[in-house]
Amino acid sequence: MKIAFSPPFINDLVKAEVNESLDSGWITTGPKVNQLENMIADLAKAPKVLCVNSWTSGAMLILNWLGVQKDDEVIIPAYTYCATALAVMHAGAKPVLVDINDDFNISVKNIANAITSKTKAIIPVDIAGWPCDYDEINNLVQQKKALFNATSDVQKKLGRILVMADAAHSIGAKYKGKESGNLTDVTVFSLHAVKNITTAEGGAVCLNLPEPFSNDEVYATLRCYSLNGQTKDAFTKSQAGSWRYDIIYPGLKINMPDVLAAIGIGQLKVYSSNTLIRRFEIFEKYNSYFSNEDWALLPQHQNDDKSSSCHLYALRIKNANENTRDKIIALIAEHDVASNVHFQPLPLLSVFKNMGYDMKNYPNAYAQYENEISLPIYPQLTDEQIAYISQVVIDSVRKVLDINND
Ligand SMILES: *Cc1c(COP(=O)(O)O)cnc(C)c1O
Repeated sequence: MKIAFSPPFINDLVKAEVNESLDSGWITTGPKVNQLENMIADLAKAPKVLCVNSWTSGAMLILNWLGVQKDDEVIIPAYTYCATALAVMHAGAKPVLVDINDDFNISVKNIANAITSKTKAIIPVDIAGWPCDYDEINNLVQQKKALFNATSDVQKKLGRILVMADAAHSIGAKYKGKESGNLTDVTVFSLHAVKNITTAEGGAVCLNLPEPFSNDEVYATLRCYSLNGQTKDAFTKSQAGSWRYDIIYPGLKINMPDVLAAIGIGQLKVYSSNTLIRRFEIFEKYNSYFSNEDWALLPQHQNDDKSSSCHLYALRIKNANENTRDKIIALIAEHDVASNVHFQPLPLLSVFKNMGYDMKNYPNAYAQYENEISLPIYPQLTDEQIAYISQVVIDSVRKVLDINND
């Protein structure tokens, strides 16, 4: 049995949507992107959603719009994918890394200690699809208002630090009865090939800005900015007689094409009713297979306040270190099961190490990383495959850690 880590979910519905787009005579940004934006807005209960070509470009777009500059600071967790930090750097600001909690997510106490008069945004990351402590984070930016130093019109209008959730993993997750997508000022989903909902490459920016912002107006500005700052998109311009346009911002070129939006539409049609539920089931099956193993530190997917999108099954192994964890992964691979590690904390990666970030300052991020293994979790997995993966993992851990079978 050969088990891939995260193949995309492509069924007949997806293929039909893509074919419809291909046959329509219009393949770049147009009606399919509009439809996808509306479907994501419905699912996430977000006032307005803009689709772009990646999470990374969506985050850059928002930070540009916020008007961050050199020396401005954006607080992010040390435990995340590199894109969270790179988006901040591409927008011209400085990522300030803070340590995490035992649930892999950013620690609110550490955020509070890291806030300065230069802090312009916080990017909490819903690792594995588990929502961060948003009430506490949203309260914190209110409490720290007096320290906030607005240096752009948007910042003056907001009057405090912007909270932009990195929800690359958490489409479909819930927090206190609300959906990921309306828990903060802005939420950005990734629609990359390995994520719960994909368009091959893509991102969705959910706008939930407070008064006096108009989310509709901000959407119109950002949409224009995402397409070279051009007043008419190519679809509108293609209508007979509608050729003249202007360029009103020095915009980016990060729009999503219709042919890719079609993939996401097909997937979203069965997400809440089927594929998300199946992810939950798989998560719980793994939990039950591992629940009798003393070495297993089971990941969380549900409590009174939070419900995960079950994007990753991040298993931790008591008493494992980097070396034994890597041996376990190699042994699992010998049985044709692909596993992974989410994530290498940023200070372990050359770019960030060279910028001066030191792993010693983020002990919890390291502790969570050194014994973590992500197991395959996606709707196409059969019960038989889940049983097989679990047995392979149990055998491999016992062998490497020299644990007896009884
Ligand atoms: C995948 C991912 C991103 C980047 O998404 P792209 O759409 O590839 O730009 C950002 N943050 C996290 C936590 C991710 O896992």
